[in-house]
Amino acid sequence: MAGNEHAPHQEMRQHGEGACPLCHGTGLEPLGEKNGFELVACGGCGLRFVRDMPSASELDAFYRQYYANAKNERNATRKVRRWWRRLLPLKLLARKGNFLDLGCNIGFAVEAARRLGFKATGYDLSEQAIGLARSAYGQCDFNVGTAQDAASKGVRYDAVLCAEMIEHLTGLDTLADALSVLVRPGGILYLTSPDASRYRTAPQLLAWKEVCPPEHLIYFGRDQITRFLRNAGFEVLFFLPVLHKPSLRVIARRMPEAATPGIEAP
Ligand SMILES: [Zn+2]
Repeated sequence: MAGNEHAPHQEMRQHGEGACPLCHGTGLEPLGEKNGFELVACGGCGLRFVRDMPSASELDAFYRQYYANAKNERNATRKVRRWWRRLLPLKLLARKGNFLDLGCNIGFAVEAARRLGFKATGYDLSEQAIGLARSAYGQCDFNVGTAQDAASKGVRYDAVLCAEMIEHLTGLDTLADALSVLVRPGGILYLTSPDASRYRTAPQLLAWKEVCPPEHLIYFGRDQITRFLRNAGFEVLFFLPVLHKPSLRVIARRMPEAATPGIEAP
């Protein structure tokens, strides 16, 4: 979805934020432009991101048509099987209980989790994707909505998947809050995102295909994803090795409530 069709809509940008979405630092170093968006690096935590994030209405229009992509529906059997293998570490750590996929697309990972023995739920912003998921995988529970919508239901999960979603966000605090509600203390989170730490210089980063605003807006390395998880009340258990592409796949455990920063013990 990257490319010039997403030309800048300058009037719709949110100006004046000027702070890092991860550490809230304001010492930002310009890196250059891509697709008409200015990228910056935070001097405090090293996170690289789009300075003036697209507005909610701009993103809403963008994601409404995000799944108008027949490619997603092909090879469904193979994709469910691939997710079944990928979710094995989650199965080994969480064992059983309920599973949630945030940004579930048309439900491959949700169906894979069900086949691994979880009670499986998926959330996605796209009504079209959720409609396809419901008709393909009727034994799972699918819902249109955000991580916040899922958190508002008051259900806590033993295992949560958040795959290739965090880099699309305009801010991180809302997701951190939602995850700290959705993953039960001791529960397991599997988070994936492209790995920007392989692209150290500004020209390298700007040339990388995953830097494609307004689709991808925040570019994490290991240090930044670890910091995000710690802030949200998780301890990193391990990063899964990924050989064929620059990708972060991290397994984290939700700390007990009393150990969460900012929440006092009763
Ligand atoms: Zn920062």
